[in-house]
Amino acid sequence: MMDRLAFLGTLLAVVAYPVHHSDADWQKILGPDRYVILRQNGTEPAWSSPLITEHRAGVYNCAGCNLELFTSAMKYDSNDGWPSFFTVIPGTTLTSADYDLPGEERTEVHCRRCGGHLGHIFDDGPPPTHKRYCIDGLALIFQPSPKSSG
Ligand SMILES: [Zn+2]
Repeated sequence: MMDRLAFLGTLLAVVAYPVHHSDADWQKILGPDRYVILRQNGTEPAWSSPLITEHRAGVYNCAGCNLELFTSAMKYDSNDGWPSFFTVIPGTTLTSADYDLPGEERTEVHCRRCGGHLGHIFDDGPPPTHKRYCIDGLALIFQPSPKSSG
């Protein structure tokens, strides 16, 4: 009996995300717009994110836990209405099957550290990966690289 309880405890520890808050706290931390995206699998309206036209060098962090997810070198203009990337910083995200749209199975991508919903991955991206990480701008915080003094 003790062995089984210990096993279940280990399992729960693995499943839980390192960064976790109560639902009420997430609402306070994120604000209403980011909360809907990150914690309720929402999708922002197409072409609504200022990050679509962001072309400066820098890093895109998770808006939920500040984990660095993408760099500007991974970004490209997909013309699909959301910030898009052809790859992700290794080990920062997890994926799962998403059946929210009837008749369509999509691959959802979420943050490995806080579990926040980021967007979806499609197979129509550019080489070398041919992946399109279609990410809600509200799930990201852009940190521009410090300008060099030259
Ligand atoms: Zn996160």
